[in-house]
Amino acid sequence: MNLTFNTALIQGYKSPAQIARRLTEDWLARNMYCPICGAESIQTAEPNAPVKDYVCQNCRAQYELKSKKSTTARFMSSVVDGVYRTMIQRITSLDNPSFFFLHYDRYQVNNLIIVPRCFFIPDIIQKRKQLKETAARGVGGLQHSAG
Ligand SMILES: [Zn+2]
Repeated sequence: MNLTFNTALIQGYKSPAQIARRLTEDWLARNMYCPICGAESIQTAEPNAPVKDYVCQNCRAQYELKSKKSTTARFMSSVVDGVYRTMIQRITSLDNPSFFFLHYDRYQVNNLIIVPRCFFIPDIIQKRKQLKETAARGVGGLQHSAG
């Protein structure tokens, strides 16, 4: 498995968050098989689908990717996401997604774990405190889905 991102994709991009999103989404789509049924690949879902980034064409499993820049081997204990209510609705629905959590550093993958959907219950979703207007958002991280 090639852990390096395809940096040719980010010509013209300036926003670090957009660059990270483009690179990590592309990498996962090119390298990941379906961990549930073993199908050779998973496909990118339609843009702006709430809490769903990838779909397996074989078993219809849905996946969401959360990425974060990290130079350490320790994995993140929490992940920033968009809208709380959307998230709760999705994880309590019958077709809730499993999650990939990806750490990257510079232009390559450091860590990738999958958390199967059965582990997501409303209790593990924290409501984020409102940020002040001046607060820096998304530094070093990556907000990824609907929001
Ligand atoms: Zn599958």
